[in-house]
Amino acid sequence: MRILVIEDERDLLTTLAQALEEEGYAVDTAENGEEGLYKAESWDYDAIVLDVMLPKLDGFSLLKKLRARKRTPVLMLTARDTRQDRVLGLDIGADDYVVKPFDLLELFARLRALIRRAQGEAQAKIVVEDVQIDTAARTVHRGKEEITLTAREYALLEFLALRRGKVVTRTMLYEHLFNEDDSTLSNLLDVHVSNIRKKLGSEFITTRRGHGYCIE
Ligand code: CA
Repeated sequence: MRILVIEDERDLLTTLAQALEEEGYAVDTAENGEEGLYKAESWDYDAIVLDVMLPKLDGFSLLKKLRARKRTPVLMLTARDTRQDRVLGLDIGADDYVVKPFDLLELFARLRALIRRAQGEAQAKIVVEDVQIDTAARTVHRGKEEITLTAREYALLEFLALRRGKVVTRTMLYEHLFNEDDSTLSNLLDVHVSNIRKKLGSEFITTRRGHGYCIE
């Protein structure tokens, strides 16, 4: 999953980006509203973390412009816990908000919920045959056995599992699993898929006509 964080306080931006990367997300950042809007319109992020008070273009104006074109899930960071700010944000299309100073674990949980709901998934657990994926705990079980995946393998598996029954193209996977600074070799996806198949069964992920993958 790929997240855009738009925040002008550099310490907070760095902390958030690092923490999200440790959670296994690909993360892009923007330090002002104009740059944030440009990136938000240029790529299909799985979610955007958006600060309200930003230079060049504030978070509310950014969100209004973005909502004219895109439905990307947006979690707002509001500085003041005033009802006006929360209501305004939700009314112009924010999906959720947290009030600064916020708890990182709560922000992660809210983000996971936004990403799941965007794919029509209400619950944190996804079951495909004998494989259970717990998107809250980020664990995978096959039967009773816990399967250890690398962060990238897990991200790929979760992305496909949230879209099970649909073919996901390689382009989509590159756009959602890697950030703008990643320089990855094109065959790396195949390596991750092949590793997941070794761990969860050769039929678990199918290849469709050479250009996409699918969990049936
Ligand atoms: Ca700010």
